[in-house]
Amino acid sequence: MNLKNYIGGGFRQQTSNNWITNLNPATGEEICKVPVSNSKDVHEAINSARIAYPKWSKLSHGERSLWLSKIADKLEEMFEEIAKIESIDTGKPISLARSVDASRSIANFRFFSEMIRDLEIEEFEMEDATNFVIQKSIGVGALITPWNLPLYLLSWKIAPAIGMGNTVVCKPSELTPMTADLLMRAINDIGLPPGVINLVHGNGIETGSQLVENPDIDFVSFTGGTVTGSKVASSAAASFKKLSLELGGKNSSIIFADCEFDKTVRGVVRSGFLNQGQICLCGSRIFIEEEIYDDFKNSLIDAVENMKIGNPLNEDTDLGALISREHLRKIEYYSDLAIEEGGVLLTGGVPCLPKGLEKGNWIAPIIVEGLNHESRCSKEEIFGPMVTLHKFRKEDELIKMVNNTKYGLAGSVWTEDIEKGRRVAESIETGMIWINTWLHRDLRVPFGGVKDSGIGREGGKWSLGFFSELMNVCIKHK
Ligand code: NDP
Repeated sequence: MNLKNYIGGGFRQQTSNNWITNLNPATGEEICKVPVSNSKDVHEAINSARIAYPKWSKLSHGERSLWLSKIADKLEEMFEEIAKIESIDTGKPISLARSVDASRSIANFRFFSEMIRDLEIEEFEMEDATNFVIQKSIGVGALITPWNLPLYLLSWKIAPAIGMGNTVVCKPSELTPMTADLLMRAINDIGLPPGVINLVHGNGIETGSQLVENPDIDFVSFTGGTVTGSKVASSAAASFKKLSLELGGKNSSIIFADCEFDKTVRGVVRSGFLNQGQICLCGSRIFIEEEIYDDFKNSLIDAVENMKIGNPLNEDTDLGALISREHLRKIEYYSDLAIEEGGVLLTGGVPCLPKGLEKGNWIAPIIVEGLNHESRCSKEEIFGPMVTLHKFRKEDELIKMVNNTKYGLAGSVWTEDIEKGRRVAESIETGMIWINTWLHRDLRVPFGGVKDSGIGREGGKWSLGFFSELMNVCIKHK
């Protein structure tokens, strides 16, 4: 199967004859060939978005809201197909692809459809004048997404971007292009006006960078690694493009002795290993209060060793395959580094090859203890099924250790003392933090990180703010 770009309302072959082979992470078998789009393809996609912009931006909020709702309805019909394709393309368990990827992608379109329908113009009265704050569309945007939550993150950007009257060119990860293709089929079927959403496949170096650099792009919403984010930022800054960066993380889970023990073990296993630890919000540094360190550690090892690793398409699989051979090598590198840095592997790190899937990218989930919190393994983003355990005694020492990383995306605190939980949570340098839960998402709240984890916030009204320009109209009374 050869994928095609989606430009100006039609599927189009790329102009070069360059292809990338997309492999199934669990089996190593070919799924499809992905076009590598060059500057000509990128230019055509931007041009078609530019042509569609005047008409689309003039539709009312109600009309655009209706289109988002039609996309959600279409995706709803394709629910099982989304889950299956996403599971095959990413290596994640089908149950997770259903509960997160398929469900939340649909929810994103529905949520922004409603927000945009209900959007009101803010007014500020003065004694002698009235101010209106208008949210205007910006123009043509580039939306660039990573491989870990392909359709979910694409829908998270597309829905508010086009909802606010912009038109867009998307570039999904070359490693997971399948549900982006499915989304293009969906919008094609419902007859979304041509050029409102365009999609170019390809790699970051050629296709992604050309998109960001192009002077006809007005804004860029990028989710991906911090190093790539820095390149995207430099290139976008040169022409003052509006920019949102959702980048990497190294998140802490903080376990106090007064936590609800069993619930916390379950929560920390989930936050450490969901999607094989390949979620930017995963808690991979686990700080445990000294009094319960040994008990908690042993329960964690038991729970992790009981997780079922295997065929992502099996209903009872807890852990699937890693995204690529290269990523597997990265996790193996950090597993070796942990030992070099003086750590002890309490479990995992060994290859585990489910029967019949020996050509996939498999590793048993890793728990390491004995590392200094300053070690590379406990400060760098690994983005895989590997967590490090650290003991703490006092609150102030804990906060220093937790904040000692260049990242600041998310975290979780586990305690029955909510006052202490809030005090500690609010001392952490991070964009988001959960108390006694993890990945409990309300689409209305701001999402994003501080320090090297990103710039700006998306989510709810913050997404609508990013994907629009504010204008103040002041009318003097007589
Ligand atoms: P990358 O940074 O490698 O890639 C992200 C996207 O950018 C891909 O589509 C990639 O294309 C593209 N890209 C690569 N180079 C460039 C460039 N120079 N110009 C423009 N685009 C480019 O990230 P990964 O795909 O490996 O994703 C994992 C990372 O994403 C982790 O660091 C994770 O923490 C982060 N992430 C952050 C989230 C957040 O909300 N903060 C959410 C999810 C993930 P291609 O891959 O095809 O080369």
